This record gives sequence, C-alpha cells and structure tokens, in this order.
Amino acid sequence: MSKVIIVGGGASGLMCALNSKNNHNEVIILERNSTPGKKILASGNGRCNFYNDDQDIKRYHSESSKINFLFEESNRVLDVFNSLGVKYLVKNGYYYPYSNKSETINNTLINECAKKGIEIKCDYEVTSIRKDNNKFIINDELEGDILVLSTGSMSGVNYEKFYGYELLDSFNLNIIRPLPSLTKLVCEGSFFNKWNGIRTKAIVSSFNNDELIKEESGEILLTDYGISGICVFNISRDIVKLLDDGKNASVKINFLEDYSIEEVFNSDLTIKETLDRVLDDKLVDVILNKYHIPGNKKYDDLNNEEKNNIRHGLYAFELNVIDYKDFKSSQVTQGGLSLDELNDNFEVNSVPNLFVIGELLDIDGDCGGYNLTSAFLTALKASDKIKEL
Ligand SMILES: Cc1cc2nc3c(=O)[nH]c(=O)nc-3n(C[C@H](O)[C@H](O)[C@H](O)COP(=O)(O)OP(=O)(O)OC[C@H]3O[C@@H](n4cnc5c(N)ncnc54)[C@H](O)[C@@H]3O)c2cc1C
Repeated sequence: MSKVIIVGGGASGLMCALNSKNNHNEVIILERNSTPGKKILASGNGRCNFYNDDQDIKRYHSESSKINFLFEESNRVLDVFNSLGVKYLVKNGYYYPYSNKSETINNTLINECAKKGIEIKCDYEVTSIRKDNNKFIINDELEGDILVLSTGSMSGVNYEKFYGYELLDSFNLNIIRPLPSLTKLVCEGSFFNKWNGIRTKAIVSSFNNDELIKEESGEILLTDYGISGICVFNISRDIVKLLDDGKNASVKINFLEDYSIEEVFNSDLTIKETLDRVLDDKLVDVILNKYHIPGNKKYDDLNNEEKNNIRHGLYAFELNVIDYKDFKSSQVTQGGLSLDELNDNFEVNSVPNLFVIGELLDIDGDCGGYNLTSAFLTALKASDKIKEL
C-alpha cells in the first residue's frame, strides 16, 4: 500500500486527494490552516465562480506552450462536479453552485474526502521536504511514497512566511518569477479623491508607450489610488510584468463606449449639463478639469482643440500606471513552477512520484472561474497517474 501525502488542502489538493484515493493507497492532506479550502470560500465574493463556458486558451497564461494541451480537457471539471451531484447556476457563461454559496463546493469536496477515508490533518505547516531512499520525508517526521505539492500562492492571503517556493527549491526546480496578477493599479494623478468610489462601465486598454497590449470591457472601480474592478484585474497581468521589468505602462479608459459624441451633444444644454445626464457628475468634473474643457460652454461653441480634448477625456482618458497592489490584494499569482519541469500528469521529470498542481504552477487565468478550473484540472491530471501507481 503506497502512502500519498498532499501538501495543501485547497481547491487543487482536495480534488487531487478525492480522485487519487483507491484501495491500494492511503491519502493524507496536510493543511496549515485550521480548516481546509479557505480560498475556495472567499472566491467569487463567497459565491465561487469555478468554471466558464468560454474556454479560449487565451484566458490562461503561462511562459510555457505546454499549457495548450491542458485546457482542451477543461470540461472534465464540470463532469466531476456533475458526478458529485452539484447543480450549477450559469450567468453569462459564468458557473456558480446553484446555492450561490462557495460552501457548497468546499463542503462537497471535504465531505467526499471524509467518505473515502482521506485524513485531513489541519494546523500542520510543511516547512521542509527531502527525498531519502525513494521516500519523501516531511518536516523530518512524516514519510510518504508519493508527494503532491498544492500549496497555492501568496495571493489573497496574509502569510508571515510562504513555504511553497522553498519546497520546490529543495528539488532545484526552475521557478518563473512569481508576481501578483488580477490586482489593482496605482496611477499618477492628484484628483483620485474626487472620483473615489465611482463604479462605471468602460473599456480599459493597456499600453507600453504607444503599443497597445490588451483591451478589456466591463466594470471599472475608480479609487483613491487609481483603478480597480474586473476589467482592470484582467489587464493587470501585463502591466505588473512591464513595471517589474522597469518599463512604462499606461492605460486609456473609454467611459462612453455606447454613444458617439454626436449622439451625446445633440441638445441646447451646456457641456456640464449634458454630461451630468450621461455619466457620474463627479467623474464629469474630473474629466472636464483634466482636459481643460469649459463646462459652461455649449459643444458647438468649442474650438477644435477643445473638441479634441473632450473626445480624449471621454473616450481615451489617459493614466500612467506607477505601481500595483501587492500579493495580499491580488487574486492570483503569475509565475511559479515552470511547466517545462513536468510531464503531462504534472509529475516532476527529474523527481519521480513528486507532483505539483494548482496555483503553485506557472499558470494563471483571467477573472471568470479560470483559476479554479486550472486548480481542479491540474489536480485531475495528476490523480489520473497517482491512482495507477
Ligand atoms: C479573493 C479571491 C477571490 C477569488 N475568486 C475566484 C473565483 O471566483 N474564481 C476563480 O476561478 N478563482 C478565484 N480566485 C483564485 C482561486 O481561489 C485560486 O486560484 C485557487 O484557490 C488556487 O487553488 P490551489 O489549490 O492552488 O490553492 P489554494 O486554494 O490557495 O490552496 C492552497 C492550500 O495550501 C495551504 N498551504 C499553503 N502552504 C502550506 C504549507 N507550507 N503547509 C501546509 N499547507 C499549506 C493553504 O493554507 C491553502 O489551504 C480567487 C482568489 C482570491 C484571493
């Protein structure tokens, strides 16, 4: 009987345990927190958006092209939850448990682990691992034949110390520099207290100098340090990387994607009166101030330069990004163990019986369920092999 030790009882660790367990092995999960699946519970604002109908590979990111093969099978995640009796609520292609509560996903995984006789040892932090005579030795006290690292990342948690990358280092593996992703952007400007708290619909585009990097449409949150919200999260990955490389990054915001200038300014009202009926009035003040537009004039009375400025302010409001919020404020980490260190079952090429899954890997996804899908799917691929060992 082989002993499988799984380090980390989150999304990937629980799924891996469940699908690895058979009559020929003993499976134990070691979890540093007092309860498993804390991040599952926090996900999707407590609703756990765990899958998305749009499984375009562009939604997943990695330095390695090996990522492509993985997501051809992403609907396996739905098959597993179907087989466990979980029903879904699908909104615009985004999947949640029908209860609309992340507890449903977490409890299902934990209860199924209990039914299969999988032990979850909580309040147990793994700080060291070595391999001795084909056995993995954990914290110099526990011994296993098969080891799975599923510690997740530093994103969204307040760790005093995160051991995940150190544990990988024990085996001299190539780690792509971890950086926050799906995070908030700190911008240059002195007017942010004036727009703090405004939520609005927009298209946000990221740039390196004049080169367009990415464009996202959705809700944006204007804050006292710059910008946040789902479409900002989705462009943050590239911006964090640019800034980390010492390069320039800026964004342009289109606040009025649904209306042309001619459709907006078609009355006898002043510019301020007109825009106050279309956008948040505090946002209007910021736009008029930044682009030096006299709000008490009528559109037809503006000179060409002023007309040009107003177009910029409404459709291409420009901000320099000077920083990003750290791991704790981010939802996910880009970088991690290089996929080139692994075979197709997420087993480390140079260390037989060592598997690495979930966010500890160099895979990160956009907002919309892609990160949990990735955690569950990598767990399923690893357990396909573990249950055969
Ligand atoms: C606020 C927030 C909202 C999110 N919302 C969504 C969403 O709606 N949809 C989506 O797809 N993704 C979402 N994500 C991302 C998603 O939750 C993660 O990508 C996913 O949980 C990663 O799974 P994992 O198993 O790799 O890591 P985790 O789920 O983080 O699990 C890792 C586990 O390992 C434990 N651990 C760490 N180190 C050790 C150690 N040394 N010894 C023992 N145990 C250890 C941790 O305590 C943790 O329980 C969100 C993230 C955050 C922070």
